[in-house]
Amino acid sequence: MDRQQKHRWIFTVLNLVMLAALLYVSSRAGPTTAPKEVSYSDFLNELRAGHLSEVQITERELIGVLKAESTGKKPAAEQRIKATRLPGVDESLLLKDLEDHQVKFEGRIEQTSWIWNVIGWVLPVLFIMLLYGFGMRRLAQGGGALTFGKNRAKIHDESTRQQVTFADVAGVDEAKVELEEIIDFLRQPAKYQKLGGRIPKGVLLVGPPGTGKTLLAKAVAGEARVAFFSISGSEFVEMFVGVGAARVRDLFEQAKLKAPCIVFIDELDAIGKSRSSGRAIGFSNDEREQTLNQLLAEIDGFDSSEGVIIMAATNTPEVLDPALLRAGRFDRQVLVDRPDLKDRIEILKVHARKIRMANNLDLETIAARTPGMVGADLANIINEAALLAVRRGGEQVEMRDLEEAVDRVMLGLEKKSRVMSQEEKERVSVHEAGHAVVALSVKHADPLHRVSIIPRSIGALGYTLQLPTQERFLMTKPELEDQIAVLLGGRTAEEIHYGGVVSTGASDDLERATALVRQMVTRFGMSDPLGPLTYGRSMAGQFIKSPFDMEERNYSERTAETIDDESRRIVDEIHKRVAQILLKRREPMERISLELMRKETLERAELDQLVAAAEADVPAEVART
Ligand code: ADP
Ligand code: MG
Ligand code: ZN
Repeated sequence: MDRQQKHRWIFTVLNLVMLAALLYVSSRAGPTTAPKEVSYSDFLNELRAGHLSEVQITERELIGVLKAESTGKKPAAEQRIKATRLPGVDESLLLKDLEDHQVKFEGRIEQTSWIWNVIGWVLPVLFIMLLYGFGMRRLAQGGGALTFGKNRAKIHDESTRQQVTFADVAGVDEAKVELEEIIDFLRQPAKYQKLGGRIPKGVLLVGPPGTGKTLLAKAVAGEARVAFFSISGSEFVEMFVGVGAARVRDLFEQAKLKAPCIVFIDELDAIGKSRSSGRAIGFSNDEREQTLNQLLAEIDGFDSSEGVIIMAATNTPEVLDPALLRAGRFDRQVLVDRPDLKDRIEILKVHARKIRMANNLDLETIAARTPGMVGADLANIINEAALLAVRRGGEQVEMRDLEEAVDRVMLGLEKKSRVMSQEEKERVSVHEAGHAVVALSVKHADPLHRVSIIPRSIGALGYTLQLPTQERFLMTKPELEDQIAVLLGGRTAEEIHYGGVVSTGASDDLERATALVRQMVTRFGMSDPLGPLTYGRSMAGQFIKSPFDMEERNYSERTAETIDDESRRIVDEIHKRVAQILLKRREPMERISLELMRKETLERAELDQLVAAAEADVPAEVART
């Protein structure tokens, strides 16, 4: 069991011991068997009937012990009875009765009972408070109950089994070059100390999620063969005031003892968000500020010649507090960018080493099919392919497994179980055929790869898969317009085929088209009436990462109207163009939809054949586009 589990154990045992002690104490507070409570008159009756052998008179009550012969074999609890004394009444009559029946009686003034009472009250309260205290600290620590001041930073050092090295990280050559110097310094600090050069204290790895930042940091430690302390910024988020700062302090204390070493703070943005941004919105996070201040103090507090290098990773460097990026702190930034084609091949190779692959695998095709994917996605594809091979009962991973894995990761699972009525199937076929024909007809659309009416993502009914031939870093206006055209193709095909009766099936397409056209107008300056300006300022990332694109409106009501009008005008124009295309190529569209209903999925080659056959059948001047 790991450390955390062990602490949980200790905590549980401690609780049990305390509970047992409490039970014991409360059991001592009075006799184990309390007398049976009866009314005063019943007590007198028992007394007068001669059932009592002994009576104790305390300040408040009468306790009588029943004679053995009158109780028979009743349980101990019923061998004594108790009645409350009548307040303010002279009980000389009672005394007389007692004497008459020759009952032995004695008076007792209770001194101890109130102490036990108090203890009985106070102990549980104390106990609960203690429990609460423990619990809070445990929560605050996020770890065991007994780890008060210790941080949860994982310590990886040289002896750790699976050392990650640069060989495990592919395709980030520029970043590796940048980090070489750090590795060299950690290996032989003396060389640098002699010359007196100042080694950067902090290195910030910046890049999109899944590009291998965490992996790279580990690899630096692996290459330099030094200890690796890592902690994730997100772990600080749920903490209570003061704990985060204490953790940071501990982390650096430990690190200094182990120098040379690397301290790695993953997801730095979780603690390092700009201090002003929170306040501007009207709430501040004291805990985060304290933690951040402590971090800054620690970074300043030592000299990198001591041999501690701080690394951190973030995918949103723009939200970081400027103080973090100042000289002498995270002053070296290393970009870990999305891999390009060549890098993707390398990454696939790295991960393919770990599984049994057929010899004739063409990883280059896979890399070509996955532009925009990051290392984590590619690792996922290889893993998925291995699982598919196992499910197939295969001996090794083959190309078809990889192809299917790409589809899965890109498009989601095939949802074959859905039952569509014949009418729905027809509508989806017409819709997808519309997308396909437009994609084949417009000049700037990404090449069409496949059309299917088997949905692969939640909510979708079918899909039209286009694959970009190469990475895109920018898009021209005609390219954007053609992209919108393909999106509108589905709805427009429905309009044509069903004589204007449309369905809900196009909502996702319409949403994406709307988002694109709005961006053209407000972000890319692609509308003449609005000119080369941007409208609205994005507030995303300023205080919370919100899935809703929060926008601060910095334009007039009139401009808002123009934006709406322009978006509408652009979409209307494209829609008209799409309708023309589909009317002209109605025959290919109808044939594709019929074939889709029959075969459900059509690859590019089949589509080309269908279109060619359809256009050979109709008069040439109509087919010309
Ligand atoms: P990040 O920290 O940038 O979000 P990670 O380092 O956590 O990304 O990457 C997640 C996983 O993706 C890694 O464990 C690794 O398997 C894979 N991966 C990512 N980038 C690469 C790469 N450049 N080379 C090899 N594997 C990679
Ligand atoms: Mg990471
Ligand atoms: Zn659609």
